Amino acid sequence: MLGTLPSLQIARVMQIAVISDIHGNRHALEAVLEDIGRTAAREVWCLGDVVGYGADPNDCVRLVRAASAVCLAGNHDLGVTGGLSLDDFSRGAALAARWTQEVIGDEEFAWLASLHPTATREGIALNHASPRDPIWEYVLSVLLAELCFDAMPEDIGLVGHSHVALAFTRREGEAATGDARREGETADISSGSWLLNPGSVGQPRDGDPRASWLLLDLTAGSASWRRTPYDIDGAAAAIRAARLPDSLAERLQYGQ
Ligand code: ZN
Repeated sequence: MLGTLPSLQIARVMQIAVISDIHGNRHALEAVLEDIGRTAAREVWCLGDVVGYGADPNDCVRLVRAASAVCLAGNHDLGVTGGLSLDDFSRGAALAARWTQEVIGDEEFAWLASLHPTATREGIALNHASPRDPIWEYVLSVLLAELCFDAMPEDIGLVGHSHVALAFTRREGEAATGDARREGETADISSGSWLLNPGSVGQPRDGDPRASWLLLDLTAGSASWRRTPYDIDGAAAAIRAARLPDSLAERLQYGQ
């Protein structure tokens, strides 16, 4: 009988930490992983863009690889590994991707190249960008969310890519609604369809410079948005020391 106890305990606490868009920001990632370690999260799921923009791609690959049960490929990861042409990237993003190609280790490159932009886990759809276009589409409007719900067989979907913490929902027979989500906000995801974005660990763009992530509780049917303060000056200094564009260092401090 005693032998069944641990699995029962595990089944009762099915919490998952969802991270995305780390972008080579080791300072932010380390702080978030420490924060996750203080929760009951059993698994870490990463929605991609481990590298690009930031100065520590190798450390970020090693940390995400060790910590995550599943990791998607983001457009920046694919740009670095050659899965996407850098012609489709903005000037700054292409420059950072080329820099990353120069410094990335062989093993780190091989792991990045093995990732896919979409996955399903625990009945939840994981897409780097959107269920319609897992690589490029930014789901930032209710109209787009409607189209995503139509394209998504699962009730719950996770997306990153926009670097904005948000939730869209649609109840049976009703129109979709959606909102940006601030720290500490929780959504009851036990009914209806949901599209959840954890925000970005390494380059938040919703005006809050703290690293953003999401704690899912699949047993309770809830999602809660978290923010973790980190050494922004350290991450910015690393970007400047790597001679990456100064704007990539500057924006971290504003969360833009
Ligand atoms: Zn990204």
